[in-house]
Amino acid sequence: MGTYLVTGMGRGIGHELARVLLRRGDRVIGTVRDEAGIAPEWAAFLASGQLRLVMLDVRDAASIGKAAAQIDEPIDVLVNNAGIIGPHRQSTLDMDFEGFLETLDVNTLGPLRIVQAFLPHLRRSKAPRIVTISSRMGSLSHAKSDRIAYRASKAAVNKVMQALATDLQGEGIVAISVHPGWVRTDMGGSGADISVEESAEGLIKLIDRVTLAESGLFFDWTGTQISF
Ligand code: NDP
Repeated sequence: MGTYLVTGMGRGIGHELARVLLRRGDRVIGTVRDEAGIAPEWAAFLASGQLRLVMLDVRDAASIGKAAAQIDEPIDVLVNNAGIIGPHRQSTLDMDFEGFLETLDVNTLGPLRIVQAFLPHLRRSKAPRIVTISSRMGSLSHAKSDRIAYRASKAAVNKVMQALATDLQGEGIVAISVHPGWVRTDMGGSGADISVEESAEGLIKLIDRVTLAESGLFFDWTGTQISF
């Protein structure tokens, strides 16, 4: 059993990851942006101390620093889950540039801010892993041109994670990117392929078995390696 930090655990994939981990006995430090992210179902886990909630916005380094200072325990797995789909207008011919910047801020810079802030906690773990929920939509081999702010932000975060894997290899810290599937959440929509349960179970199986030799790679929720 380990301690997992999950960003954006108030809803969607982050919520389900936290639920599965708590039910099997792991400790979870969940991040939410505000009190609205604290569901009544967490009460018993909060009371027992198995779940801790910290508030942060991945765009805001000060809020991340404050959250990190509240945690004084090793973190085994850091799951960068928080993300946004980006602005309404995001084609190369009609781009909301402010929205594009925000998308990069949340989806690309956010995960790196989180890793930097919680690296001291990861360094205290015996099996430290960084898992960033990216998307196959960021694969450079996909020539599609819709949602380009989102796609670019995920392609960029993959590059950042690959570099982190190189920089942290010597310390034995694994860093991977994962595609969670097309999942029925607020972001994925009700017509998506798989449920949050299927996605979370697959992701956790992968997280449990990933090794340092696989650090820097990109996987999907079934545990299959996919191309950047
Ligand atoms: P949801 O929209 O359901 O949930 C997004 C989560 O991210 C929420 O908890 C939200 O918090 C949090 N979040 C958003 N912005 C910030 C921020 N600035 N700071 C902190 N937290 C923030 O999305 P999903 O659960 O579907 O997606 C989770 C991850 O999976 C994302 O990275 C997404 O890109 C990726 N993904 C999802 C796919 C899908 O089909 N659903 C497919 C491929 C990848 P709040 O409630 O406060 O808004």
